[in-house]
Amino acid sequence: MAKLSQADLTELNRNFEERTPEELLRWATEMFGTRVAAISAMQMAGSVLCHIISRQKLALPVLFVDTGVNFQETLDTRDRIAAEYGVEVRTLVPSMSMEEQTRELGVLYLTPDGQERCCHLRKTLPLARTKGQFDCLVSSLRRAEGGKRDNVPILSVDPPMNSLRLNPLANLKDDEMDAYIATHNVIINPLHYQGYSTIGCNRCTTPVLPNEPKRAGRWRHLGPWAMYCGINATDVDGGISPSIDLSQEVVDRILGRSTDFTI
Ligand code: SF4
Repeated sequence: MAKLSQADLTELNRNFEERTPEELLRWATEMFGTRVAAISAMQMAGSVLCHIISRQKLALPVLFVDTGVNFQETLDTRDRIAAEYGVEVRTLVPSMSMEEQTRELGVLYLTPDGQERCCHLRKTLPLARTKGQFDCLVSSLRRAEGGKRDNVPILSVDPPMNSLRLNPLANLKDDEMDAYIATHNVIINPLHYQGYSTIGCNRCTTPVLPNEPKRAGRWRHLGPWAMYCGINATDVDGGISPSIDLSQEVVDRILGRSTDFTI
C-alpha cells in the first residue's frame, strides 16, 4: 500500500480548477473504473450531478443514504432520478429503524451530542459499510454554499472512507447551477421551491428565511453548533488530514506517474 496525502494532490487540484464537471467525472470513471461511486442526498446539486452522469452515459452508481426519516419528497426525487435518468441508485440504510433506535437510545436528535450520535448511526455508518469498495467517491459540494464549504477542494482525501473525494461541482456558482437546471429541466426535490435551501432528515430540517444563511434550516433547534452531519470529511475539522492508503499502482495512476492519461 502507498500513502496519499492532501498535499500530494496540490498540483492535480491546480489543474482541476480549469476543468469542467463533465471532464472531472470522465477523469474519475477512466481512472477508477468500477471503484468509483457518486453520493447524493437528492438535493439540488445532487440532482445536477445525477443529470450529468446520465447525460454523459457514465456507468457509476449513485449512493443514497435513506436515514428512515427522509422527507417523502426526497424519496420521490430519488425514484424519479433512477427511473427517468437511468442511473443506478443504491440505497444504503442504517442497521436500526428510527423506532428501534428511539426505543433503545431515546430521542437523540434533540441535543448536540445526541445529534452527532444519531447522524453517525443513520448517515455516516451506512456509508462507512461500503468502505473498501470504492477508491473514489464523487460528491456535489459547492463553494457557493458558503460556510465550511467556502474552500472545499475539488479533490481531497477522505480518511474515514480511505478514499478520494471528488467534488466536480465545487466551482459551480448559484446562477450557473440555476441556468443548467433550467436548460436541462433537471428533476429537483420540490422542497427547494418551498423555502428549503438544503434538505436533510425531516426531524432536523426547516425552511429558511430569504435573509438567512443557506444552512440555517439544518438543526435549527440546536443552535449554531450543529451545522454538518459529518458524512463529508471536508466538513469536519481536521477531516482531510493526514492521508489515505491505496495500492501503489492506484496512487501512481492518480498522480500521473504510471500513465499519460490526463485531462
Ligand atoms: S439529521 Fe437529525 S434525524 Fe437525521 S440522522 Fe442527523 S440527527 Fe438523526
